[in-house]
Amino acid sequence: MASDALTHETLIATIRDYVDQLVEEGLEGVPLGERKAARTISESPAASPPARGTAPQAASSSAELFAAYPGIEKTSTLEELREFVGDCTRCKLAPMRRNLVFGVGDPSADLMFVGEAPGADEDARGEPFVGRAGQLLTDIIERGMGMTRAEVYICNVIKCRPPDNRNPEPDEVARCEPFLMRQIDIVRPRVIVGLGTFAVQALLRVKTPISRMRGVWHELRGIKMMPTFHPAYLLRNPADKRLVWSDIQMVMKELGRAIPRRSGL
Ligand code: SF4
Repeated sequence: MASDALTHETLIATIRDYVDQLVEEGLEGVPLGERKAARTISESPAASPPARGTAPQAASSSAELFAAYPGIEKTSTLEELREFVGDCTRCKLAPMRRNLVFGVGDPSADLMFVGEAPGADEDARGEPFVGRAGQLLTDIIERGMGMTRAEVYICNVIKCRPPDNRNPEPDEVARCEPFLMRQIDIVRPRVIVGLGTFAVQALLRVKTPISRMRGVWHELRGIKMMPTFHPAYLLRNPADKRLVWSDIQMVMKELGRAIPRRSGL
């Protein structure tokens, strides 16, 4: 029975992986039942790409964003914000997490990476991007950009792991998003790199697939943002590393950093 359950879980995980891959690639309309249909339908209507050079912005003002969390705007350091978040139980993910994954890196970094949500490795260690996808992100930062993880800031839209690595749900994003926005306000990086469909759509409040947003500058809270593919997607689709490398080179140029010799992904 245990092996049956394992097979079932593996099958579900494989299908989910495949659907996520299709969504990441920009496919619209996959008839896979109610939950997935909701995702794909939400990507379809008017999913027109932003014109080059335009900069879609998140809709909410700070007042709207922080209304439910009085006092959050008074936090002026990441330590104060972490204290404000505390042992958070503000959404239904709280009882299922092992560790709240707040973020790591330089609190005054020029460059911030924002992913979707912690996975199993991140939940276990309390640090974002430490699994296989995390290693690839580290390679992008170190081998590609010639920087160190300690020089950048890395966090996620959602601070607690969704069960079975499912996508975060809208109510969870709504509860957790103010923490990320305050992190962005405090760090004030010069450039944000949004990693993957979910993170970028949540940040910019659009339904456009990542494949149509990457390679184009957007704006978030007055900061330039470059969407690109999630490292987990690159593990399954290594051929698309060249597209990420192209996006990263745009980021390096914006930061005024030279591209290291013999770098690449
Ligand atoms: S996901 Fe965010 S809002 Fe939900 S419990 Fe964790 S920290 Fe709180």
